[in-house]
Amino acid sequence: MEKTLVLLKPCTLQRGLVGEVINRFEKRGLRLAGMKMMQLTDAILDEHYAHLREKSFFRILKDSMMSTPVIACCFEGIEAVNVVRAMAGATNGRNALPGTIRGDYCMSNQQNIVHTSDSLENAKIELARFFKPEEIFEYESSNLGYLYALD
Ligand code: GDP
Ligand code: MG
Repeated sequence: MEKTLVLLKPCTLQRGLVGEVINRFEKRGLRLAGMKMMQLTDAILDEHYAHLREKSFFRILKDSMMSTPVIACCFEGIEAVNVVRAMAGATNGRNALPGTIRGDYCMSNQQNIVHTSDSLENAKIELARFFKPEEIFEYESSNLGYLYALD
Protein backbone atom coordinates (compact mmCIF):
# COMPACT_ATOMS: atom_id res chain seq x y z
CA MET A 1 0.00 0.00 0.00
CA GLU A 2 1.16 3.52 -0.79
CA LYS A 3 0.00 6.79 0.72
CA THR A 4 -0.17 10.03 -1.25
CA LEU A 5 -1.05 13.67 -0.62
CA VAL A 6 -3.97 15.45 -2.25
CA LEU A 7 -4.61 19.13 -1.56
CA LEU A 8 -8.02 20.48 -2.54
CA LYS A 9 -7.09 23.98 -3.63
CA PRO A 10 -8.97 27.21 -2.75
CA CYS A 11 -10.71 27.19 -6.16
CA THR A 12 -12.25 23.82 -5.23
CA LEU A 13 -13.68 25.16 -1.97
CA GLN A 14 -14.91 28.35 -3.68
CA ARG A 15 -16.61 26.39 -6.43
CA GLY A 16 -18.32 23.91 -4.10
CA LEU A 17 -16.48 20.91 -5.56
CA VAL A 18 -14.96 19.47 -2.37
CA GLY A 19 -17.41 16.58 -1.99
CA GLU A 20 -17.40 15.85 -5.69
CA VAL A 21 -13.60 15.52 -5.88
CA ILE A 22 -13.26 13.45 -2.70
CA ASN A 23 -16.07 11.24 -3.97
CA ARG A 24 -14.13 10.42 -7.14
CA PHE A 25 -11.11 9.19 -5.20
CA GLU A 26 -13.33 7.21 -2.83
CA LYS A 27 -15.30 5.61 -5.65
CA ARG A 28 -12.08 4.54 -7.34
CA GLY A 29 -11.24 2.59 -4.21
CA LEU A 30 -8.71 4.89 -2.59
CA ARG A 31 -9.01 4.96 1.16
CA LEU A 32 -8.84 8.10 3.29
CA ALA A 33 -6.09 7.79 5.87
CA GLY A 34 -6.15 11.47 6.91
CA MET A 35 -8.03 14.67 6.14
CA LYS A 36 -8.01 18.22 7.50
CA MET A 37 -8.76 21.83 6.61
CA MET A 38 -5.80 24.15 7.00
CA GLN A 39 -4.69 27.68 6.19
CA LEU A 40 -1.42 27.53 4.27
CA THR A 41 1.40 29.99 4.95
CA ASP A 42 4.17 31.56 2.94
CA ALA A 43 6.68 29.30 4.72
CA ILE A 44 4.98 25.99 3.93
CA LEU A 45 4.38 27.05 0.31
CA ASP A 46 8.04 28.07 -0.11
CA GLU A 47 8.89 24.45 0.74
CA HIS A 48 6.03 22.83 -1.10
CA TYR A 49 6.59 24.74 -4.34
CA ALA A 50 10.39 25.09 -4.04
CA HIS A 51 10.77 23.66 -7.56
CA LEU A 52 8.86 26.70 -8.92
CA ARG A 53 10.50 29.52 -6.97
CA GLU A 54 12.22 30.99 -10.05
CA LYS A 55 8.97 31.08 -12.05
CA SER A 56 7.25 34.38 -12.84
CA PHE A 57 3.97 33.04 -11.44
CA PHE A 58 5.44 31.92 -8.08
CA ARG A 59 4.03 34.89 -6.09
CA ILE A 60 0.59 34.64 -7.73
CA LEU A 61 0.54 30.88 -7.15
CA LYS A 62 1.37 31.27 -3.46
CA ASP A 63 -1.18 34.07 -2.98
CA SER A 64 -3.86 31.99 -4.63
CA MET A 65 -3.02 28.98 -2.43
CA MET A 66 -3.39 31.20 0.68
CA SER A 67 -6.59 32.94 -0.45
CA THR A 68 -8.79 30.52 1.54
CA PRO A 69 -8.07 27.40 3.59
CA VAL A 70 -7.33 24.19 1.68
CA ILE A 71 -8.27 20.61 2.49
CA ALA A 72 -5.38 18.19 2.82
CA CYS A 73 -6.13 14.50 2.24
CA CYS A 74 -3.98 11.41 2.58
CA PHE A 75 -5.26 8.67 0.26
CA GLU A 76 -4.04 5.10 0.47
CA GLY A 77 -4.06 2.19 -1.98
CA ILE A 78 -1.91 -0.11 -4.11
CA GLU A 79 0.12 2.20 -6.41
CA ALA A 80 -1.87 5.12 -4.97
CA VAL A 81 0.70 7.75 -6.04
CA ASN A 82 0.41 7.01 -9.75
CA VAL A 83 -3.31 6.26 -9.66
CA VAL A 84 -4.12 9.58 -7.97
CA ARG A 85 -1.75 11.51 -10.23
CA ALA A 86 -3.38 9.99 -13.33
CA MET A 87 -6.84 10.84 -11.98
CA ALA A 88 -5.80 14.50 -11.58
CA GLY A 89 -4.70 14.81 -15.21
CA ALA A 90 -2.39 17.32 -16.89
CA THR A 91 -1.43 20.43 -14.93
CA ASN A 92 -3.20 22.85 -17.25
CA GLY A 93 -6.91 22.08 -17.13
CA ARG A 94 -7.23 23.05 -20.78
CA ASN A 95 -4.82 20.23 -21.71
CA ALA A 96 -6.21 17.68 -19.26
CA LEU A 97 -8.16 14.83 -20.80
CA PRO A 98 -11.89 14.49 -20.20
CA GLY A 99 -12.41 11.91 -17.48
CA THR A 100 -9.60 13.34 -15.36
CA ILE A 101 -10.48 15.63 -12.47
CA ARG A 102 -8.82 18.66 -14.04
CA GLY A 103 -10.18 17.73 -17.46
CA ASP A 104 -13.71 17.58 -16.08
CA TYR A 105 -13.72 20.54 -13.67
CA CYS A 106 -11.34 23.27 -14.78
CA MET A 107 -10.07 25.49 -17.56
CA SER A 108 -6.98 26.87 -15.82
CA ASN A 109 -3.29 26.22 -15.38
CA GLN A 110 -3.26 27.63 -11.87
CA GLN A 111 -6.80 27.14 -10.55
CA ASN A 112 -6.58 23.44 -11.26
CA ILE A 113 -8.58 21.88 -8.40
CA VAL A 114 -5.99 19.59 -6.79
CA HIS A 115 -2.37 19.13 -5.90
CA THR A 116 -1.19 15.52 -6.05
CA SER A 117 2.22 14.10 -5.13
CA ASP A 118 4.32 13.20 -8.18
CA SER A 119 6.40 10.30 -6.79
CA LEU A 120 6.43 7.96 -3.81
CA GLU A 121 9.50 9.71 -2.46
CA ASN A 122 7.80 13.13 -2.68
CA ALA A 123 4.55 11.74 -1.26
CA LYS A 124 6.42 10.77 1.91
CA ILE A 125 8.05 14.20 2.17
CA GLU A 126 4.79 16.04 1.45
CA LEU A 127 2.68 13.98 3.87
CA ALA A 128 5.19 14.76 6.61
CA ARG A 129 4.96 18.45 5.65
CA PHE A 130 1.17 18.64 5.95
CA PHE A 131 0.29 16.02 8.58
CA LYS A 132 1.53 15.15 12.06
CA PRO A 133 2.12 11.39 12.46
CA GLU A 134 -0.96 11.06 14.69
CA GLU A 135 -3.16 12.63 11.99
CA ILE A 136 -2.57 9.68 9.64
CA PHE A 137 -4.70 6.69 10.63
CA GLU A 138 -4.18 2.96 10.17
CA TYR A 139 -7.41 0.96 10.38
CA GLU A 140 -8.93 -2.29 9.22
CA SER A 141 -10.79 -2.45 5.89
CA SER A 142 -13.06 -5.36 5.12
CA ASN A 143 -13.29 -4.76 1.36
CA LEU A 144 -9.70 -5.19 0.16
CA GLY A 145 -10.41 -8.58 -1.45
CA TYR A 146 -13.20 -6.98 -3.48
CA LEU A 147 -11.05 -4.00 -4.47
CA TYR A 148 -7.87 -5.81 -5.40
CA ALA A 149 -8.64 -9.54 -5.52
CA LEU A 150 -5.22 -9.97 -3.90
CA ASP A 151 -3.39 -9.01 -7.10
P1 GDP B 1 1.34 19.77 -10.80
O1 GDP B 1 2.26 18.78 -10.13
O2 GDP B 1 0.59 19.16 -11.97
O3 GDP B 1 0.40 20.44 -9.84
O4 GDP B 1 2.25 20.90 -11.48
P2 GDP B 1 3.61 21.62 -10.98
O5 GDP B 1 4.21 20.93 -9.81
O6 GDP B 1 4.46 21.80 -12.21
O7 GDP B 1 3.11 23.07 -10.58
C1 GDP B 1 2.50 23.28 -9.36
C2 GDP B 1 1.32 24.21 -9.52
O8 GDP B 1 1.79 25.47 -10.00
C3 GDP B 1 0.30 23.76 -10.57
O9 GDP B 1 -0.63 22.81 -10.09
C4 GDP B 1 -0.36 25.06 -10.91
O10 GDP B 1 -1.32 25.42 -9.90
C5 GDP B 1 0.79 26.06 -10.84
N1 GDP B 1 1.35 26.31 -12.16
C6 GDP B 1 2.14 25.47 -12.91
N2 GDP B 1 2.49 26.04 -14.07
C7 GDP B 1 1.89 27.26 -14.08
C8 GDP B 1 1.86 28.36 -15.01
O11 GDP B 1 2.47 28.32 -16.09
N3 GDP B 1 1.16 29.47 -14.64
C9 GDP B 1 0.49 29.55 -13.44
N4 GDP B 1 -0.18 30.68 -13.15
N5 GDP B 1 0.49 28.56 -12.55
C10 GDP B 1 1.17 27.44 -12.85
MG1 MG C 1 3.78 19.15 -8.78
